[in-house]
Amino acid sequence: MIDKSTFQWPQGRKGAVSITYDDALPCHHQLVAPAWEAVGLRATFYTPIRSTLMEDVEAWRAVATKGHELGNHSLFHPCRKRALGDPAWLPDHYDLRNYTPERWRDEMRVADFALSLIDGENKRSFGNTCCNTEIGQGETLTSLDPIIEELFIAGRGAYNKKSVHIGDLNYNALGHCSGDGRSAAELSEEIEQAVAAGDWIIYMIHGVGEGTHGLFIDEDEHRQLLHFLGKWQDDIWVAPLREIAQYLKACER
Ligand SMILES: [Zn+2]
Repeated sequence: MIDKSTFQWPQGRKGAVSITYDDALPCHHQLVAPAWEAVGLRATFYTPIRSTLMEDVEAWRAVATKGHELGNHSLFHPCRKRALGDPAWLPDHYDLRNYTPERWRDEMRVADFALSLIDGENKRSFGNTCCNTEIGQGETLTSLDPIIEELFIAGRGAYNKKSVHIGDLNYNALGHCSGDGRSAAELSEEIEQAVAAGDWIIYMIHGVGEGTHGLFIDEDEHRQLLHFLGKWQDDIWVAPLREIAQYLKACER
């Protein structure tokens, strides 16, 4: 547990933000990562292995080399069927309701190994696929928390629309907000509120610009969001999820 009464964000900053982009879309390495670099900041990309990663390893290696985090987002993007919009695109054999802890752990380890060949890192964060935090069903329903603790620095957890309170956080299921379909004005206001409370706010975004994904943030709104983050970076710590979780864990000791 972090002692909130003595806790301080680095360099006198008041709060923290991590923006995470899901599913290794082409726009992420083509446009999004360079846009972050242009404002001098870095993000987290949750890259499933079966994705553009397999088509263009060098493009993703370049993203990692620039200092962005390649986070674990599994091999095949398994999800719970009949949850969160019942992902019709997902074959039944990747239904998390039928996974055992052993199978889930094995798949995540192999995904981590594949990512380590690309970025040379041996620790990273996990972006829960479809924001699911459990596998199995009925009597076999199992929380992923203990396996996430074993394998990862942190897990992004459920989409709970809340910022992370520093005195009261679960590294294995941090909780996050969404940036898809939202305006820069709305997002910057939400970030300001979280930072004013001394919190860490984490966002999940899929596409950037129409046609990049069914869930997306408008390209111009995204540009304005990055401008806002760049402008206030002396007050707000903007960094990949792994980096902020590592800092917080070091404060526990
Ligand atoms: Zn995903």
